[in-house]
Amino acid sequence: MLLDDILTYNEEFVSKKEYVPYETDNLPNKRAVIFTCMDTRLIELLPKALNFKNGDVKMVKNAGAILTDPYDSVMKSILVAVHALQADEVFVIAHHRCGMNHLDTDGLLSTMQENGIDTKSIQSVDKDLNQWLQGFDDVGNSVEKSVDIIKNHPLLPNNIPVHGLVIDPATGELDLVTRGY
Ligand SMILES: [Zn+2]
Repeated sequence: MLLDDILTYNEEFVSKKEYVPYETDNLPNKRAVIFTCMDTRLIELLPKALNFKNGDVKMVKNAGAILTDPYDSVMKSILVAVHALQADEVFVIAHHRCGMNHLDTDGLLSTMQENGIDTKSIQSVDKDLNQWLQGFDDVGNSVEKSVDIIKNHPLLPNNIPVHGLVIDPATGELDLVTRGY
């Protein structure tokens, strides 16, 4: 079981003080907050490709680095990073070949049913699920939209630059979409 593997490993990690190289505080040394995708390929690659170490940045993730609602938990996290944790620069970093690109929402809903979610439960959701689950058609446009929502947020100070980038999940190469300065 993965949980047991984790707990066993963790005991050793702590007792051998393997945490020492990662000691830092909760304020981002590079004073930035990164909003990116939860993709597995980016876990280590993104920080390495951007030269971020433990302690350097605040990082917020979701599926696709898609921000659609200016009052969702992603925007809240960005505002907390800026107002409470000294971040003074925001980076939206989506990636090529993202699972949210052309996401088949009908397919996702059928998979949910195959996974045992019954029609009644699906109908009980008070939302347009196809719209709520939707991904994006063009990664650059999606980044621009997220940047726009953040940049124009009434609770974000005007002097905070909001940048938009797309990373290659194989090589780590960045394409600049929006230069926020
Ligand atoms: Zn992705």
